[in-house]
Amino acid sequence: MRRALAGIAEGVLAAIICVPEATAQTPLGDRQPVPPESTVVVMLGTGTPRPLPDVMGPATAVVVGSRVFLFDVGLGVERRLAGAALPINGVTAAFITHMHSDHTLGLPDLIFSSWTFGRTRPFPVYGPKGLSAMLTHLYEAYQEDIAHREIEYGVRGGYQVNPYEIEPGIVFDSGEVRVTAFAVEHGAWRQAFGYRIDTPTRSIVISGDTRPSEELVRMATGVDVLIHEVHPAAVRQIGNRPNINWEDYIARYHTTSIQLGAIAARAKPKLLVVYHKVVAHLPTSSWLISAERLQAES
Ligand SMILES: [Zn+2]
Ligand SMILES: [Zn+2]
Repeated sequence: MRRALAGIAEGVLAAIICVPEATAQTPLGDRQPVPPESTVVVMLGTGTPRPLPDVMGPATAVVVGSRVFLFDVGLGVERRLAGAALPINGVTAAFITHMHSDHTLGLPDLIFSSWTFGRTRPFPVYGPKGLSAMLTHLYEAYQEDIAHREIEYGVRGGYQVNPYEIEPGIVFDSGEVRVTAFAVEHGAWRQAFGYRIDTPTRSIVISGDTRPSEELVRMATGVDVLIHEVHPAAVRQIGNRPNINWEDYIARYHTTSIQLGAIAARAKPKLLVVYHKVVAHLPTSSWLISAERLQAES
């Protein structure tokens, strides 16, 4: 592994792949048109349920040429797409890892804001069981807005998206981009997915929320980029609910940085990006590492 535990700033390109060196670390909007096979990963949101003012909910864009594949739809997603100079009028496809609210709270934003800003056609949304019902209820919740805008825009139904409730396997394969969903283990959730994305030039795995997963190690072995959640084992109390044993919760639902180190040592991705950090208000990965070191020494 050439680089490990890469700390990232949200809204900054976490991994710029297949673009000339001179354009690295420049916003997408400042770049010249890129070749259709180029692959860029943009960390749009790296947060958790905690409403930190500067960190948005989980959302990762994999941009292949001009196509935008979105993984999870956390709060603030449309604003972050705008910040990265990516289209705000709809994505090529969206993929949900699991139905926890921090990963889906941006869904009405993605659907209705993209419609407001010119979307006329549905795009596919892939995810676990419950996705179709959530969309039906969202349309119902926003029926007053929908009714008014349909009159204003003179078009009926333009807000809709096409939901696909998926099982593990290849869920998208078009134009040399293949997306494979695989099962991960996230506490009591019946369905939680990680995704592997294979483009003409790169391979990327996104963990979603998971405790250490053998299937993830298998899918991520040798990939170019592994984007993995991380929780600090050293923090005992992370939430405001004293009746929850957070150490036990993290063991069942999440991956500590020590466990992630072991996973990365086995999978050997070329680049490891950590996200969904519970202690995102403590901003650097070096803090995570030093916290774990303290724990290991105590
Ligand atoms: Zn989460
Ligand atoms: Zn979760």
